[in-house]
Amino acid sequence: MEYRYLGKTGLQISALSLGSWVTFGNQISDDVAEALMVKAYDNGVNFFDNAELYADGKSEIVMGNILKKQGWRRDTWLVSSKVYWGGKLPNQYGLSRKHVIEACHAALKRLQVDYLDLYYCHRPDKNTPIEETVAAMTDLIRQGKVLYWGTSEWSAEAIREAYEVAKRNYLVAPVVEQPQYNMFHRERVEVEYRRLYAGIGMGTTIWSPLASGILTGKYSQGIPTDSRMQVSELQWLRDFMASEEGQKRIQKARELQSLAQELGTTLPKLAIAWCLKNPNVSSVILGATKVPQLEENLDALNVVSLLSNEVMEKIETILGNKPKFPAFG
Ligand code: NDP
Repeated sequence: MEYRYLGKTGLQISALSLGSWVTFGNQISDDVAEALMVKAYDNGVNFFDNAELYADGKSEIVMGNILKKQGWRRDTWLVSSKVYWGGKLPNQYGLSRKHVIEACHAALKRLQVDYLDLYYCHRPDKNTPIEETVAAMTDLIRQGKVLYWGTSEWSAEAIREAYEVAKRNYLVAPVVEQPQYNMFHRERVEVEYRRLYAGIGMGTTIWSPLASGILTGKYSQGIPTDSRMQVSELQWLRDFMASEEGQKRIQKARELQSLAQELGTTLPKLAIAWCLKNPNVSSVILGATKVPQLEENLDALNVVSLLSNEVMEKIETILGNKPKFPAFG
């Protein structure tokens, strides 16, 4: 395993980590969840990602039980939660001081831990002043309930504002953003955030490196019955796959799969290695429903060295989506 510093913090995070969205407490049994965590940990993964939203809290319960059962030393792993979607009633969602603090307490209980290593604001909340959220996060950190806090899918402008509010008021600034990043989804990480890496020292833990499985190439032959595309609440994903853009991506995945074969590797490994090659990515959060999938994906670390300039150019030609940097950049 390779470890990277999370932005300018002193925290070392495994370049590949494991997340639980759609899988834990939902698509897979608790035994499979345990086998995945053990496989990940045994291969040096030190970060397990979670959220209050995932399986309505069940995902954190499953993960907490596994962490407790395995008894791994607390200083060998990091666990996260994310706050935003805790329920539908007033104050059960959003980033008010009340919800940020109550959601943290609930996550600590479900995960059976004394503190969260990383705590993310799962989305921006335009109805809560940034000052209120930054102050709530600061209090949790000063109470020892959270070690580092960050954001997920916030605009560069909002992240910068949170940082400046913190610096102006002697509060604790966010240090990590969790954006989607994969071969099809590049603009935010490669363009919008580019001044934040050196500027405020922001790290990133990126999600959906395989674009929910499209970048495995397995959808070329239709939808496998045991895939996430069959999960009832993911109708939006099925709709997307059926759309013109979805079909275009499946075709591009076919072309990328041929390139992967030429290189003597597989498309999932190539797609994950491509994310790892970006030095502004601190950790690529993997998802898996089966241990062999995770084994394959962990091997992506050995594929990064195949990504020569020539191979990267071939990938760009297939993708045709290289971001154009703004002139003032
Ligand atoms: P991916 O895009 O990598 O999709 C993972 C899914 O693809 C697996 O669950 C599996 O689904 C399939 N798959 C994975 N590897 C293989 C393989 N080698 N061969 C064939 N199929 C494979 O990542 P996720 O979308 O799961 O995101 C990863 C994590 O990121 C999440 O668990 C979560 O922690 C985080 N996340 C954060 C978000 C945020 O808003 N902050 C949003 C979304 C995710 P199947 O077997 O069902 O096809």
